[in-house]
Amino acid sequence: MRYLEGFRDPEAARHLAGRIRDTTARLADQGRQARIMEVCGTHTMAIARHGLRDLLPPQVELISGPGCPVCVTDAGYVDAAIALADSGCTIATFGDLVRVPGSRSTLAEARSRGAEVEVCYSPEAALALAARRPEREVVFLAVGFETTIAPVVTLVRSAAGRGLRNLSLLTAFKTVPPALAALAEDPEVQVDAFLCPAHVTAIIGSEAYRPFVERYGIGCVVAGFEPLDILHGVDTLLGQLADRAPALANQYERVVRPGGNRKAQEVMATYLVPEDASWRGLGVIPGSGLALRPEYAAFDAARRHGRPVAAGAPDPRCRCGDVLKGKIRPRDCRLFGTACTPDRPVGPCMVSSEGSCAAELRYGA
Ligand code: SF4
Repeated sequence: MRYLEGFRDPEAARHLAGRIRDTTARLADQGRQARIMEVCGTHTMAIARHGLRDLLPPQVELISGPGCPVCVTDAGYVDAAIALADSGCTIATFGDLVRVPGSRSTLAEARSRGAEVEVCYSPEAALALAARRPEREVVFLAVGFETTIAPVVTLVRSAAGRGLRNLSLLTAFKTVPPALAALAEDPEVQVDAFLCPAHVTAIIGSEAYRPFVERYGIGCVVAGFEPLDILHGVDTLLGQLADRAPALANQYERVVRPGGNRKAQEVMATYLVPEDASWRGLGVIPGSGLALRPEYAAFDAARRHGRPVAAGAPDPRCRCGDVLKGKIRPRDCRLFGTACTPDRPVGPCMVSSEGSCAAELRYGA
């Protein structure tokens, strides 16, 4: 705990805030402002919880991007999971997905109709469930970014090793670098720099962003989750902007290596191949997903049960897409905190505590 306190020191935060004010003044002298997007749900929550926006000058805007895996899960994926549950499969899933709205309902509502939907706290729990219930087809909802893909996909190896033939994965794995490229190419998105995700980058390595920085001329800084980590990352990005020198920087060297976690990368390459993936609110992003290789088709729930994931139809009133692109703040959605709350979410950004809408409603920032 004492170690962490060093990254929450109020005096150091005030010092960094002063530096940020000075750098922002240089930007303002050039008639410029800064919109910095974080692409990580844990950053989104930390920024809101610690009130970091209040420390920044008005010319600096922190906006939340598509960094929460639950938030970017397409309605069509939820529809496919519900169809599998209604057809007699047992759905094993992390808790948040149970409440994510599909086109017409949620897995929680399917459960209330009698479908079997089990909340698991780890992939191993899904494995244990399949072993306990050999008479049932168990489908694990394999949703996530690079951070969690390796431990989830090793379920295939574990199930094969134990001779379990009743476990499969409904995959919606997504990768962050293609999403950054899509945002950079989207004329609707106004972003000057990216605060890159720490957990994801611990796996893919900070060098994974170098092609992006070189191609788009947009600065990327990898930052940790403590208040000083984030302020330091913002300060570095503002300095780059003021100097008109976008670059790649790793402010989280105590965890993130340039090459990332080779072991996890090997595991992903063994079981998965890139595919186009549909992100809620962003549409299909080429090469941004990972699908099970054809040799593991028996573990692919969509193929095994003939239930491919199709495009969904989310509630048209929900503006998660605009929130995830940083076009609006959550409170600009007219359902925010009224028709849409964490107890009755209309869109996925209100489901997870790391969702932009849930974080803004909870912390008011
Ligand atoms: S407040 Fe609710 S309905 Fe509005 S964008 Fe957020 S999740 Fe969607």
